[in-house]
Amino acid sequence: MYLLHHLLTPGTVKRWFARFLERHERLCTAFTQAEKQVKGSAFGCRMCGQCALPATGYACPMTCPKQLRNGPCGGVLATGACEVYPDTQCVWVTAYERAEQEGRVSDLTLLQRPIDHREWGKSSWVNYWQGRDADLWTTDDGLTRTHLVLTDLRLVAGGPKA
Ligand code: SF4
Repeated sequence: MYLLHHLLTPGTVKRWFARFLERHERLCTAFTQAEKQVKGSAFGCRMCGQCALPATGYACPMTCPKQLRNGPCGGVLATGACEVYPDTQCVWVTAYERAEQEGRVSDLTLLQRPIDHREWGKSSWVNYWQGRDADLWTTDDGLTRTHLVLTDLRLVAGGPKA
């Protein structure tokens, strides 16, 4: 599956193709439908338009009933089942299993940024080739970065506790 991502890596031709598609509405619609078919049957894709698959072990986080993009909620059952739909496995358990198989568990510590909900229904491939989702997730887990902590109603520089 990671090979698929490699094949989709943006380049001059793909960027040109994405621009071409966006100038031709019918073609773009047909292309988006094709993406929906392919990714729908392979990953249960919901067409959020900003694909997280390469950083989630190719388990679509939008299939989570809570649409959690940064790991599971606290309700995963001991069996690994979803608390909302106990007859299905938590998508984050699936993500872990797949990532572990590929030696990519560290991907799961990357922080997924909130998505732009205006992109629902659009082609994530076109968005990817156009460079719109280049910052969808962080390049590290964010734990070592300085961050601001609200204390006594004043903002002060802080960091992770030792
Ligand atoms: S485009 Fe969004 S909904 Fe579709 S597979 Fe990727 S993350 Fe899931």
